[in-house]
Amino acid sequence: MKITAVETVKTSLIVNPQLAIVSAAGTHPESHYLTVRIRTDEGMEGFGEATLAPVWSGESQDGAAAAIRNILAPVLEGKDPRNVRALAAAMDRALIGNPFTKAAMEMALLDLKAKSLGTGVCNLLGGPQRSLAISLKFSIGAFSPAEAARVARHAAELGLRAVKVKVGLHIKTDLERVSAVRSELGEDFSIAVDANAGWTESEATLALAGLEKLNVNAFEQPLRRGDFRGCARLRAKTHIPIMLDESIFTVQDAMEAIRLDSCDLISIYPGKNGGILRSLAIAEMAHAAGLKCIIGSNLEMDLGTAAMLHLAVAIPALSETVSHDIIGPLYYTQHLTDTPIRYKDGCALLPEGTGLGVNPR
Ligand SMILES: [Mg+2]
Repeated sequence: MKITAVETVKTSLIVNPQLAIVSAAGTHPESHYLTVRIRTDEGMEGFGEATLAPVWSGESQDGAAAAIRNILAPVLEGKDPRNVRALAAAMDRALIGNPFTKAAMEMALLDLKAKSLGTGVCNLLGGPQRSLAISLKFSIGAFSPAEAARVARHAAELGLRAVKVKVGLHIKTDLERVSAVRSELGEDFSIAVDANAGWTESEATLALAGLEKLNVNAFEQPLRRGDFRGCARLRAKTHIPIMLDESIFTVQDAMEAIRLDSCDLISIYPGKNGGILRSLAIAEMAHAAGLKCIIGSNLEMDLGTAAMLHLAVAIPALSETVSHDIIGPLYYTQHLTDTPIRYKDGCALLPEGTGLGVNPR
C-alpha cells in the first residue's frame, strides 16, 4: 500500500459563548482545526485532526496547512502508511516542533493502519486495559463566582462528577470562584484547579492554604512553562497533587519533570505531544516513575477526541482519582462527523468501528 495524496480542510467553530474558556492564558471563543485525509493507491484512507491555537503551541491553521503541503506531505507520498514509526521519524527530520500538525498526520496514519487490519486504533497500542468509558471533568473558565457556579451546575446536569476551575489570575477572586463552585456542587464532587502558568511561586504558595481548605484534588500548571524546580519546591509544601500540562509537550520534558521530582500527575494528549505514540511513551515513563497521567485537552473535535479515547483505554498509569478532559465536543453545538463521540453518565465512550471510529463528512 502506498500513500498517493495528503489533503487538508480548514474548519473553525464558535465555542458555546456560555461556556467559552477564560484562563490565565487568555480567552478561547473560537477553535480552529485542520482535518487531514491521507489517500492510498488501494482506495483506503485515514483521517486526523489538528487543533490549532497560536497561543498554546505556536501553530496556526494556515501555518499547519502550509507545513503539511510543503514539507510533510512530500515526505509521506509514495511510502507505505503502515510504517507509522518510520514515517513519524521522517517527519521529525523534516520539520522541528509543530506537535499538533504532526499529531494530525500520525493520527491519520494510525487510523489507516488500524482500518487496514480491521481493528480499532487502541489495539495497535496493546489493546484496552480498563473500562471503555472514561470519566470526565468539565472545565470552568475564570468567571465571576456566580457565573462559575452556573457552569458547575451545567456540568452536573451533563452527569459529570468532577470539574476543573481556572485560576492563576488574582488569588482572592480565584479562591472565591473555587469556593462558589464547591458550594454549588457539594463535597461529593471532585474539584481540580488549573493556573495555566499564571502564578509566581510565591503566589502559588500563598494560594495553597485556601485550595487545601476547599479540598482541591489536583493543582495543574501552577507556575510558568518549564519551571520544574519551582514546582518541585511547591510540591514539597502541599499534599495536593501537582500536575504539569504546559511544561510537558515532549518525552524529554517528561523526563526532566520526573528527574526533578516536579509533579505527581502529567497531562498528556496526542496533539500536544506530537502524536498518539509520543503520548504513549510519556505514559510508559510516568508509569515507571510511579506517576499517573491525565488526558488533557485543547478542545478537540470528534477525531481528536477519538484519538484521546483510544489512548486513554490503552495506556498504563491513567489516573482513576483525577478525571479527564476529553470534553471538546461538549463545548460546541455543531459536529463535523455523522458519528459524534458519545457521552454517558459523566464519561466519554470509546468509539466503535475500525480505525479511530470517526469519519468526517
Ligand atoms: Mg491545562
